[in-house]
Amino acid sequence: MANSKFEYVRHFELTNTTHLLPNTYIIIRIDGRSFHRFSTLQSFTKPNDARALSLMNAAAVSVFHDLGGEVVSIAYGVSDEFSFVLRKECNLFDRREAKLVSTVVSIFTAYYISLWPKYFPSQELTRPLPTFDGRAVCYPTIENVRDYLSWRQADCHINNLYNTSFWMLILKGGMTPQEAEKELMGTLAKDKNEILWSRFGINYNNEEEMFRKGSVVYRNYGAVPDSSTEDKPNEEEEATPEKKEATAETTPVPPAEAQKGKSRSQQKREAKKLAKAEVVIEHVDIIKDAFWEKRPWILH
Ligand code: ATP
Ligand code: ATP
Ligand code: MG
Ligand code: MG
Ligand code: MG
Ligand code: MG
Ligand code: MG
Repeated sequence: MANSKFEYVRHFELTNTTHLLPNTYIIIRIDGRSFHRFSTLQSFTKPNDARALSLMNAAAVSVFHDLGGEVVSIAYGVSDEFSFVLRKECNLFDRREAKLVSTVVSIFTAYYISLWPKYFPSQELTRPLPTFDGRAVCYPTIENVRDYLSWRQADCHINNLYNTSFWMLILKGGMTPQEAEKELMGTLAKDKNEILWSRFGINYNNEEEMFRKGSVVYRNYGAVPDSSTEDKPNEEEEATPEKKEATAETTPVPPAEAQKGKSRSQQKREAKKLAKAEVVIEHVDIIKDAFWEKRPWILH
């Protein structure tokens, strides 16, 4: 066939394909392109538009559902960004970087756009349409992954304290953006807390958790009741009422530990259970150990 004449170009691809390092956690971070402008054009509430953050969270949950339970273990979102931590064992697309990053970006963007009317019912999505970029970085240890997530959450805190103070000085203090920026120049966290409290009667710690801590998305494996529902054919993707009522405080068995000494079918059931566990969104501290100690199945 004449095609053979052209087929050699395929080999160009092989020299240009990055396979991400095996046995490492892959973190894919997506970030809104020019969202400063986009948020202004769409009249986002400043400094934090709760609808926009909820839409980001819904798009992130869709990535979990679309990729299935074996792929993403936890995600963290703040502002116009979301970081997806892929399991160390993830072998999707043979860990080809371009396929992984482009797929996550594409799923996220598709859902962000299709879910827009649910979060902004009275606001038509006009051009420029929201788009996202993405990158992947491999982290070899749990400590690295936790430090990465701590870095993002610390960043959320620093930016949010600054933005809250900045917009209060403008919206309530009558300052221009330039004056507000000057006022905050060189201030420490305690100074900003003091400005918020003494001038505007705002206790920063009472600000919404979603704004201060960002959003943590994961599968609530520990809350799944230990029944044999996983053998039912065509079970709905929707969480059952029991799954919803159960709390994250249930002491779970970490899958890695649980695998030891278990039959193949038992292991398969465990994996299925994890894949079907409800995806939850929480606004909690992930820098301290407590979150991880209570949910040992997330990183292992
Ligand atoms: P780039 O394309 O380089 O990422 P950018 O304009 O998106 O540029 P970022 O550093 O990603 O810059 O910052 C995102 C900006 O989007 C924030 O600074 C803020 O102005 C705006 N933004 C994002 N989410 C919200 C939100 N929920 N409420 C209000 N503003 C938001
Ligand atoms: P992958 O996710 O690996 O790309 P895929 O199912 O998308 O899997 P492709 O090799 O990309 O597989 O093939 C795309 C398939 O989509 C085609 O084989 C065809 O069945 C279908 N398809 C795409 N475009 C059209 C079209 N315009 N009309 C009819 N079928 C189409
Ligand atoms: Mg960017
Ligand atoms: Mg951005
Ligand atoms: Mg950003
Ligand atoms: Mg194709
Ligand atoms: Mg295809």
